[in-house]
Amino acid sequence: MELTVIGCWGAYPAPNEATSGYLIKRGELSILLDCGSGVLSRLQNEVPLEQLDAVFITHTHADHIADALTLEFAALVLMQTGKRSKPLDVYVYGEDPDKLGFQFPECVRVHPIDLRQKVQIGELTMEFSENVHEVPCCAVKVTAADGKSLVYSSDTGYCDSIVEFSRQADVLVLESSFYDWQKGAMRGHLTAGEAGEIAALAKPGQLVLTHFPHYGDLRQLEAEASSRFDGQTRLAFGGMKLNI
Ligand SMILES: [Zn+2]
Ligand SMILES: [Zn+2]
Repeated sequence: MELTVIGCWGAYPAPNEATSGYLIKRGELSILLDCGSGVLSRLQNEVPLEQLDAVFITHTHADHIADALTLEFAALVLMQTGKRSKPLDVYVYGEDPDKLGFQFPECVRVHPIDLRQKVQIGELTMEFSENVHEVPCCAVKVTAADGKSLVYSSDTGYCDSIVEFSRQADVLVLESSFYDWQKGAMRGHLTAGEAGEIAALAKPGQLVLTHFPHYGDLRQLEAEASSRFDGQTRLAFGGMKLNI
């Protein structure tokens, strides 16, 4: 499968960029993990919206869901114009789907994510794990039929569950919202050093840091994670592609 980072910013997008959004492609299949601010525009550089098969929303903070209702309008127009033949499946964790504001059930089918249940989309298997965050939030594991796997943490504080969930993933995409000097400043997010500690225990094939702060030198995040994890560590960027 191929991962494309659509957006990597926490809170709000940098100019011409996006907050959380990660596209997974496998053959004809296209799945979006989170649909934050700016994602819908940039997503179209990578896949025509009529070909998007499913969207997974890890939690309802705006930097992860802001463009989801606009995506519903896209599905509406694409179905009205005959470009899209089937509704878009949107899976959401932690909120009653009826409260999310989707208006066109014939265009978007909203499903609650149940942590105990895997979701099969073609040959991709999706699994979920509860995080530590201000609102209910889940991490997502995507496993392809060939056994390759990606774990995307979404937003989380340090917890044993994300370590267990990430063990031996080929690629671990971990949030690093803060620098080490900010440790303890805010519950529900990781410092880059904590991300490195999680990776050191989970031993992924490689670590990709994301969900960045809008200040400081991001290379410091990479250095702080690398001081704990001796495997390959990289900073995400909009348009980054990884073959997994
Ligand atoms: Zn976030
Ligand atoms: Zn959040």
